[in-house]
Parts: sequence; C-alpha cells; structure tokens
Amino acid sequence: MKPASIAAQGLGWVDDHTRALAPPIHTSTTFIRDPDNQYRAGHTYSRDQNPTFDQAEAVLTALEGGHASLLFASGMAAATALFQALAPGDHVLAPRVMYWSLRNWLTHFATQWGLRVQFIDMSIPDEVRNAVQSGKTKLVWIETPANPLWTITDIALTCEIAHAAGSMVAVDSTVATPVLTRPFELGADIVMHSATKYLNGHSDVIAGTLSTREDSPLWARIKSIRAQIGGVLGPFEAWLLMRGMRTLFPRVRAACDSAQGIAERLAQNSFVDEVLYPGLPSFPGHAIAARQMHGGFGGMLSIRVRAKNGSATGEEAAIATAARVQLWKRATSLGGVESLIEHRASIEGAGTPVPADLLRLSVGLEERDELIADLEQALAQAHS
Ligand code: PLP
Repeated sequence: MKPASIAAQGLGWVDDHTRALAPPIHTSTTFIRDPDNQYRAGHTYSRDQNPTFDQAEAVLTALEGGHASLLFASGMAAATALFQALAPGDHVLAPRVMYWSLRNWLTHFATQWGLRVQFIDMSIPDEVRNAVQSGKTKLVWIETPANPLWTITDIALTCEIAHAAGSMVAVDSTVATPVLTRPFELGADIVMHSATKYLNGHSDVIAGTLSTREDSPLWARIKSIRAQIGGVLGPFEAWLLMRGMRTLFPRVRAACDSAQGIAERLAQNSFVDEVLYPGLPSFPGHAIAARQMHGGFGGMLSIRVRAKNGSATGEEAAIATAARVQLWKRATSLGGVESLIEHRASIEGAGTPVPADLLRLSVGLEERDELIADLEQALAQAHS
C-alpha cells in the first residue's frame, strides 16, 4: 500500500473478534497475566502500554518508514524524552530558529541536566561543520521548515556532517509531516512530531511522537523513560489521534495547495514587505525544500507587514491586521482544519528572534479565495 492508503485504512486494521472496522478505545489500566506467569498479549500496565496506542504507533512507523514509534502526552514530552535519554556532559547542536518552547527548555532546563547545548544557524552547513565536536556531539537537532521563519535545513547534508563526527540526528518534522518529507530516507536517526498539529489535525488533541530508524540503546532508554515517567496521552486522545491520521494526506495536500496560492497572492500585496514561504522561488531555502519536500511546501507561511505611514516598524499594523480578520482565527498552534493567524512575537515574549512585524499563518481547509479576501481586507483596513 502507498502511504496515503496506509493512513486512510489505518494499516487495514480490522478487529479479530468483532470484525469492527473502527478500533475500540481501551480504558483498562491493567491486563490479566497468563497462568504460567507470562503476559503474551504484550500489555501489562497502561502507564505506557495502552493498546489504543498500538495502531497509531504502527501507522506512523509505516508512514515514516522507520523501525518503531512511541506516542507521548505532547510534542514537548516527546522531544524532551529524547534529550533526557542523553548523558550529562553530552554536547548537542540545536538551531537558533526553532519551536520557541523547546528552545527555552534547552536553554533553561537541559543545561541543568548537564547537557552542553549550542545554538547555531542549522541552515548553513559550514556552521554545522565548525560546531560539531567529533566524539562529543551526541545529537544534532533539526527543525525544517523551522517555526516561524520556515528556514529550511538540508537534512541529507546535515546528517552526512553529523554522522562523520559520530553524532545522531533528530528531525522535528511537525510542519513537513510524513506526507511531504521522510527524514529517515535522508539519513536521520530519530523523527519527532507535535502530533497536536497535522497528524491529529483537528485542534482537539495534545500529543507528540518519536520514531526511530533502527533499534538502538538510545531507543531502549527513550522507551524506558516513557515507561517510568508515564508521559503518555489518554486512550480517548490516542483514539482521536488515530482517527485524525486517517485523513492526514488529503488535509496536508489541500493546505499546501492553498498556502502556495496565498503566498503568491500576498507577495503582490502593497501592505506586505515580505512573504516567508518555502514554496516561493525567491525564498532562500527553496531549492533544498524542492529536493526534500515532495508534493508541496507545507501549510505554514509568515508575512512581514509594512509599517503604516508615520510608524517606525510594522508591529502596530501587524497587530491591527490580526485584529481585523473575520474568517481567520486569532490563535496560537497550527495544522488544524481551521486557518489561524498569530502575532508570533507577542506569544514568544522578550528575547524572541521573531521580527515584531511578523504574522504567522496556519492555512486550514476553508476556501482559498475567502482566506485571501479576508487577509486583503484586514491588511487594507489596518493601513487605512
Ligand atoms: N515542535 C513544533 C514545530 C511545534 O510547533 C510545537 C508546538 O507548537 C511543538 C514542537 C511542541 O508540541 P506540543 O505543543 O504538542 O507540545
């Protein structure tokens, strides 16, 4: 089966006993031990082994083309489990432009844990070459396209550099999704998703995932961390996630299509200084994105709003634009069916590398023409 069919049919799962096509939700926290003291069904206790996880993990593993996957309570729980599986003193490279909360956690908590975290411009291979320390760097963390400037990192080249120095590579592929990019085929060792976004796709579940290309001592440690800490989602949320994943391909393809059209149209708008979208040929990472993203450039873009006459920056006009949309929803997050607009610097706060005139757009499934018309009227009003 091709990946879109795997997702649509949830790997073709059918219940053995009832022949049900939709899977049950397992609420049991505990499972019966066989008389000979074995747990042949494979489940002991639901802190990390709820059967409702199994289908979603198996489908994701098939979509990524990896060895195994694990669900976590959130994207942050997944990402931090990987960093916690490293040892004190290990050196880690991370990008300067990346999901803000994880950057904060790496700065303020991972360092207390003893990790030596160094932030670089991951999109410049020479920076990776210069920063990676042979035998000491244990993990290179990539996010591509990276939130919220959509900076593109060449996964294959970064893996080549990191592997030559003995480091593993993990990719936050939340925005690319397995529909557009399969990091394992490009050499990555671990793939992470905030499943809260496109994998679930309906803004009603918080979840995260890690997948591994192969079994390894690190993967065993990650599994053990999840089992001991219990940072998992509940069975209802796991069931909803699996339901959302069935429509992953048509949702992502439609969002890419709309985002491309919106980016091209806004690039002509006189109230917009710059459109940041990997699908625009003028975007710095476009050529690499065209190589490693298949079937589209994602549903996320950002615009830098032109300053109003008399204003030094576009911050006021950006906030006024977000205030005047009617169809777009003013909210954080991304990857849902409804289109979201956000003044990103406001949520990231002091120290953010995000320009104050930037609005982040998560393109959903509404009519593209209506989304464009709404943005155009909001931009015009904000500048009137
Ligand atoms: N990675 C990316 C790219 C994200 O956008 C987010 C959340 O916005 C996360 C990770 C964290 O995921 P969660 O909110 O599910 O913890």
